[in-house]
Amino acid sequence: MQRHMSYLQKHPAITRSRVNNFVNDKGQWKDVNIQALLYDLRVSGEPHIKLEVWSAPGQERPSFKHAVKQEFRPAKTTHWFRVNVDIPKEFAGKAVQFLFDSSSEAMVWSAEGEPIMGLTGGNGGERHVDYLLTANATKDEPHRLFYVEVACNGLFGNGSFTQRPQDRDIYYRLSSVELVAPNPSAWALFHDMEVIVEMAGRLSSESPRSWQALTAANDVVNAVERADLSTVDAARGISRAFLDVPSSPASHQVYAIGNCHIDTAWLWPFAETRRKTARSWSTQLGLMDDYPDYRFAASQAQQFEWLLQDYPSLFKRIQQKAQDGQFIPIGGTWVEMDCNLPSGESLARQFLLGQRFFKEHFGKTCDVFWLPDTFGYSSQLPQIVRLSGAKYFFTQKLSWNNINTFPHTTFRWIGLDGSHILTHMAPSETYGAQCRPGELIDSLKKHKDIAYSNESLYLFGNGDGGGGPLRHMLERLRRMENLDGIPRIKQTHPREFYEHVEQNSRELVAWKGELYFELHRGTYTSQSNNKLWNRQSEFLLRDAELLSTVASMGSHHDSAFEYPADELTRLWKLVCLNQFHDVVPGSAINMVYRDSREMYESIISSAKEIRKKAAASIFGPSFACTAEQATGLALLNTSGWMRSDVVAVPEALYTRFFAAKNLMQIRTSDRAAFIPVANVPGFGIQHIDTDTNASIQTVEHPVRVFKDAGSGYVMENRHVRVTISDVGQITSYYDKVQSRELVPKGAAANVFELYDDVPGYWDAWDIEIYSLEKFKSLNASVVSIADQGPLVASLSVCVPISEASVLTQTISLNQMSPRLDFDCEIDWHENRKCLKVSFTWDIYSDMATYETQYGIVQRPTHRNTSWDMAKFEVCGHKFADISEFGYGVALLNDCKYGHSTLENTMSLSLIRAPKSPDEFCDMGRHKFRYAIYPHSGTFSESNVVQEAYHFNVPLLQLPTGSDQSISGDTSVVSISPPPPHKHHPFFSVSGARNVVLDTVKRAEDDSQSYIVRLYEAYGGHARALITTRFPAEKVTKVNILEEPMESDTEDGQCSVHWLTHSTSLEVKFKPFEVVTLKFTR
Ligand SMILES: [Zn+2]
Repeated sequence: MQRHMSYLQKHPAITRSRVNNFVNDKGQWKDVNIQALLYDLRVSGEPHIKLEVWSAPGQERPSFKHAVKQEFRPAKTTHWFRVNVDIPKEFAGKAVQFLFDSSSEAMVWSAEGEPIMGLTGGNGGERHVDYLLTANATKDEPHRLFYVEVACNGLFGNGSFTQRPQDRDIYYRLSSVELVAPNPSAWALFHDMEVIVEMAGRLSSESPRSWQALTAANDVVNAVERADLSTVDAARGISRAFLDVPSSPASHQVYAIGNCHIDTAWLWPFAETRRKTARSWSTQLGLMDDYPDYRFAASQAQQFEWLLQDYPSLFKRIQQKAQDGQFIPIGGTWVEMDCNLPSGESLARQFLLGQRFFKEHFGKTCDVFWLPDTFGYSSQLPQIVRLSGAKYFFTQKLSWNNINTFPHTTFRWIGLDGSHILTHMAPSETYGAQCRPGELIDSLKKHKDIAYSNESLYLFGNGDGGGGPLRHMLERLRRMENLDGIPRIKQTHPREFYEHVEQNSRELVAWKGELYFELHRGTYTSQSNNKLWNRQSEFLLRDAELLSTVASMGSHHDSAFEYPADELTRLWKLVCLNQFHDVVPGSAINMVYRDSREMYESIISSAKEIRKKAAASIFGPSFACTAEQATGLALLNTSGWMRSDVVAVPEALYTRFFAAKNLMQIRTSDRAAFIPVANVPGFGIQHIDTDTNASIQTVEHPVRVFKDAGSGYVMENRHVRVTISDVGQITSYYDKVQSRELVPKGAAANVFELYDDVPGYWDAWDIEIYSLEKFKSLNASVVSIADQGPLVASLSVCVPISEASVLTQTISLNQMSPRLDFDCEIDWHENRKCLKVSFTWDIYSDMATYETQYGIVQRPTHRNTSWDMAKFEVCGHKFADISEFGYGVALLNDCKYGHSTLENTMSLSLIRAPKSPDEFCDMGRHKFRYAIYPHSGTFSESNVVQEAYHFNVPLLQLPTGSDQSISGDTSVVSISPPPPHKHHPFFSVSGARNVVLDTVKRAEDDSQSYIVRLYEAYGGHARALITTRFPAEKVTKVNILEEPMESDTEDGQCSVHWLTHSTSLEVKFKPFEVVTLKFTR
């Protein structure tokens, strides 16, 4: 026998190639390898299968032969097949499958209309084309009738998203429709061999198991004779002998969980996701019946709600499986949201909506925050997660970092305020594992904290476009569960993994602050309309809730005002939906943004309507008038702070009550009237006295602008003198009070730079570091004076970008403030370019400060280490600030998020021009605003938080009717000092200027209570006095879910104290703490 041996250890690659060819389901060996043995019988066509198709619109009834050859077009249409099946007698005693491959996604429906399972055609790893008709056919099988709904799109939309256009016609071919009888032994051997062959390839050659695997696989190939099926069973003896060697008790422990990542919209529209959810999850229910150990986790309450609406019977089956513990709702949020762009309140609402849904429909909230695929993680997440009833966090996206390797796998993540959550990043570095030995070997190899924790999570199942685990994955998993050479595997609820880590791990390492994602930095900028509408929606909903709460609680003109709870919930759901991690970041196809625009229109118009109705209820019916009926004007300040400003009243409005000749200044561009207003109270209203205003003819401290020969244009008020060159750049910004020049000699601010923006692969996603090397500065072609003062001075600037694109901006300075505003309009038609604006200041600082959710994040201005360098483009919300001892400058914006600071130069990314997956991304006209706000003192000593707020939320102009002046409540809430007025404010916050009163709403499910949410914004302790006009029986510190907190201070003392008569309370804050108070009346 010795002479037949081929000495395989001397040439392992040749043998590996041989055993690979034996299992390969593609290519030239399919007719001679194990693939040829997998089916005992197969038939197709009539009389066994009769197909009828109905395509919308129009009807046809093609013959089977015709249907098989049918090409479905265009892409993204739907076709229904009626399938009549008669199982032939020769199938008796065998299992029978219906194979249906439309090369696209499809769903099998019963004749009664019950969704049964999803199918995915094609030849990829996601292929799933078999529907089991019977496990054991008889000689007289009944006639079967069912339907297949074919969607003309694949799991990943239509074709590669890097090809344009996405919406082009794509053809799908019905490539097979068959009845087959699988050979169970051949399938079992096939699954055995898939495991053994990969172990032979992936285990280190130092491991005897790799040689044992190669030898066993080779022996199996030698044993199988195609002509004699009994050899398959003999070969299984060989494979089983290898697979029966158990792992040692000290091996690495993997907790495996099935999942299918379904992007709520990406390369397909929201409407397709509704069907994807049904297809994917119905398939999983079937697998759960066959594999009792199998566990499957699904996130995103929004997808569950869609399922409840569209497929109620399927939803019921899922609830049952959830009760049995096999189907695991997870994550706790409304969608798997982006965590860079949404505001703090938006993140809170993701959890409030999500957890409430899971509690209502599945009996409990989720304790694992599940976000495998988002593009970076805000430093406030640990606190928000804790305040939302969860304490564990799963992700893996940082494995995509393209500069530094994130150093931890299992660690305590410590947030901005010191809250921490146990965090795990799957060492297999995927959420779509295929149950292959290599991935499990990696779970051990790539684990970076094995010294403290010898266990890891493993997420398997096809994803992004859904699909989920397939039968053959579970078959392989079963074989690997207790197998020497592979970590031990247990299928379980992810919670069990975290609990086990908590109980058994030694002290874990910690990571403080944001989990910055070193990729997809373009998502702070792409699809700029969505960024703008998201920002506007967040502020509008805040105002709508605040005013509705007050209107619904008090003794106002219209005490019958009913809090529009359902409508507000609907609007918040839409805001949260659009924060999905491929929607607001800008990485979806054009179709998605068409839907998104409609949703934002609905949010914005409805929130404005609510705001208007609530204001009329609070302040009196005269506030319900239209602009045409107006005889006066009031200004509503919905921010928490007293403010003064120059407002621009539209011509259509002021001509009703101002005589134009008496007005101090009319804006040249649109004839709006500039009106100065002083000390409008926080959360309060001020009536414009039309008589008094009209009588003022002089302005005490006017602003002026003039052309200065040699240097360009000078704008000057009592705070600053700004020089703008003939090419539109700021060459001097002089603080007259501090006698300080902000622009270094030879440098400039407001410099437009056009960068080449060609990323490595992910077009809409990435701004790459090399882009910084290639740009040109743009000069204005025209600068001219627009408004002369005395209230507002402004310049018109026109900056040609290219033959096709142009930017115009109005630079304005009012008489009250050192802040310089830039109102921009751009007509943008570029290809892979990014426009930035930069500002160089004479400020020396190693750190810049950026606003994040409920606080700030500081990042280096240098590139000392590769970690610093990787942050060449970062996310900031309403402001970025650079400060040194005694002085600083903030850059404010109304809808931009992409920032960078290098040494003393700050830049803001304004617009990009990626071409995939949306070839029309950001083409056309856009409006946006930014501003420069210089301040004395460091950032902590400044009021940049307030100023950025005011820049985003202008005083609201409310036309008032003729018969009454303001007779309702004139202050809604007030920040100290309270305005002199006969009414007490509804609330006031005093004693802590670092505390922001952010949200006021009615409590969920509790008509007697309202909620006030505040946060500490600068990073220090605070003791704030909160006074309420609505005496409450009780005030409770609650979490985001509005449940009482167990114990909120370390010393065990409550941090909330009533002071007098249940109207004033003292609230202590820790740095960056978010405090939610529930007032019960
Ligand atoms: Zn995703």
